[in-house]
Amino acid sequence: MLNLADSSPVRAAQADALAEKARALNARYRHHSATAVMEGALRDAGEIALVSSFGAESVVLLHMAAIIDPATPVLFVDTELLFTETLIYQQEVSERLGLRNVQIIRADDIAEKDPYGALRFSDTDACCHLRKTVPLQKALAGFDGWITGRKRFQSGSRAALEFFEVEEIADGPTGRLKVNPLAHWAPEDVRAYMEENRLPRHPLVAQGYPSLGCAPCTSKVAEGEDPRAGRWRDQNKEECGIHIVDGKLTRKGAEDK
Ligand code: SF4
Repeated sequence: MLNLADSSPVRAAQADALAEKARALNARYRHHSATAVMEGALRDAGEIALVSSFGAESVVLLHMAAIIDPATPVLFVDTELLFTETLIYQQEVSERLGLRNVQIIRADDIAEKDPYGALRFSDTDACCHLRKTVPLQKALAGFDGWITGRKRFQSGSRAALEFFEVEEIADGPTGRLKVNPLAHWAPEDVRAYMEENRLPRHPLVAQGYPSLGCAPCTSKVAEGEDPRAGRWRDQNKEECGIHIVDGKLTRKGAEDK
């Protein structure tokens, strides 16, 4: 692990080495499938975890991981404010796919900092930071990289999304790889993969929730609306801040749906 904020020659060399590793992996896998990228990441990129919300589209990467290596570490952040359906789906999917290393991540200071679950009413960014970002970053500290479900079609800022990126962390001790095996996938690719492999859908998708997060911050989406319109509806907030760009937490990097 390396500190990209440290400007010493050794650290700079390590940062260059990590960037070169990402470039080499992108060159090697440029014309490969999502499954090949996933397999390559797990085999060639060091200690890699799949971060999954067990949301609307998560089952695709979970299925790939289960086929490649059922012992792949899967990190699931339980904010303690998720839908009950998500918690049940997480257990059912993990069991059905035979995933053997699902790690449930929770913040250890919720009782102290948000004992009544009211922080979200005054500051959703602080709530996401407490319940999602901090515990995930702690959990990722032992890994060289992580796999996400981000895709190019999800926003203009991801139009050039690569399979392998370098994640810099402003106030943390590490830089690590971020792997996006589905970068090139369109919505119909996701649907087709689920149908061809007869994968179970999150039960709330059929009830009007094409994108799922915490229960208090997720509402139904009407026909024709953006799939993510139900996340933090009526608030100037788009993301939970789990993704980090240029060393800063950003709202633009969505977790998998
Ligand atoms: S999505 Fe809402 S409830 Fe969940 S952590 Fe963020 S602000 Fe809190």
